Amino acid sequence: LRKPKNGTVKNLENGTNVDREETEDKAAQSLLNKIIHTSLVNTTSQVEVLQRDPNSPLYSVKTFEELRLKEALLKGVYDMGFNRPSKIQENALPMMLAEPPQNLIAQSQSGTGKTAAFSLAMLSHVNPAKKFTQCLCIAPTYELALQTGKVIEQMGKFYPEVKLAYAIRGNKLERGMKLQEQIVIGTPGTVLDWCTKLKIIDPKKISVFVLDEADVMIATQGHQDQSIRIQRMLPKECQMLLFSATFEDSVWKFAERVVPDPNIIKLKREEETLDTIKQYYVLCNNNKEKFTALCNIYGAMTIAQAMIFCHTRKTAGWLAGELTKEGHVVALLSGEMTVEQRAAVIERFREGKEKVLVTTNVCSRGIDVEQVSVVINFDLPMDKDGNADNETYLHRIGRTGRFGKRGIAVNMIDSNHSMNILKQIEEHFNKKINKLDTDELDEIE
Ligand code: ADP
Repeated sequence: LRKPKNGTVKNLENGTNVDREETEDKAAQSLLNKIIHTSLVNTTSQVEVLQRDPNSPLYSVKTFEELRLKEALLKGVYDMGFNRPSKIQENALPMMLAEPPQNLIAQSQSGTGKTAAFSLAMLSHVNPAKKFTQCLCIAPTYELALQTGKVIEQMGKFYPEVKLAYAIRGNKLERGMKLQEQIVIGTPGTVLDWCTKLKIIDPKKISVFVLDEADVMIATQGHQDQSIRIQRMLPKECQMLLFSATFEDSVWKFAERVVPDPNIIKLKREEETLDTIKQYYVLCNNNKEKFTALCNIYGAMTIAQAMIFCHTRKTAGWLAGELTKEGHVVALLSGEMTVEQRAAVIERFREGKEKVLVTTNVCSRGIDVEQVSVVINFDLPMDKDGNADNETYLHRIGRTGRFGKRGIAVNMIDSNHSMNILKQIEEHFNKKINKLDTDELDEIE
């Protein structure tokens, strides 16, 4: 298997313009999710299936055996610790492995088994005896391509005849040579070059085309066009598969352009709710007072784990420092860290090595807060116009109904403005947020 020479994961937050920052943040978030999801995300949501041909029998599988995979691949799957297909895999795998091949658009949140599913599909379809590229998978960034490549390598561990190449920057190849690797994973620009300028892949010989992270893809300037150009070169009978964590209209439009006659599978995200959360606010005058209140709250509770949200990196850094001075063992998650550093911090926190995590908003979306019993909004979430950011509030505090343990949320108010935001949040969710007097903390818990 051809390994890229330069496999470092760079900091993705130093975009030069707004557009770029947004995009790169999406890609960074996605990468972070891939790294920290070391097991399936729990979900009780139902899969929604829309078939291209409503008359063909719809079936799902409950075991990997039912898929009649090659022995080496079944071994690879079990070696990865998978016992049975995930929710989305139950439906997606039979469709992807069907004869004749079927096209698929699948949407489900990060961590539900999409990557594993299409990796298995590509490995199954490959003919190892043929020494040319048969499966093409495109991903939005260098780092995401590497991450997916790792999954294919791992799953194909007992199937060494199948080789994988990375079409990413830095992997320079000679014009006109023919690639022997059966599977190629890469970014749209390099893949396009390899198919057109360098002609080292013959697009007419591709039988499976996978477009991963479509939502991140279309957020990147140029990627959408490049993906469409690649798709146009493929034969009609090539199987087209598209995956995305979210599905706004723009993603949908793109998906329909690159995947003709698709089957569609959707797995709804579990709704978050504030029902099991006790919400409070504390009145303070400045950061110092907020800090004192925070220490009081923390001291009064036998907290399992707490997460503290700040608006800026600067506040987060300062607060983490102050808490450390007070003798707390604190973890800090901040924007200047690389994705890998962030993943390491999240991993330690999950393992309980630190009890308190101070973070800015940008960094925290990937963290599953189910285990965290207390969430403190040191600063309230607001959008760039200074209005309440209700979605982020729900995301920070909310729990998914059925697994939801009880939790406490404390909002720190230090100005009319933040009071205003609090009122907006109260109104939006139609739930009262009670005042907490930090000198009498008996009422909490
Ligand atoms: P997605 O692409 O939707 O983000 P992944 O395919 O990366 O999801 O899967 C998320 C995590 O769950 C990975 O750690 C993966 O190894 C694991 N996983 C995937 N499928 C299964 C399965 N059937 N059983 C157990 N774990 C699985």
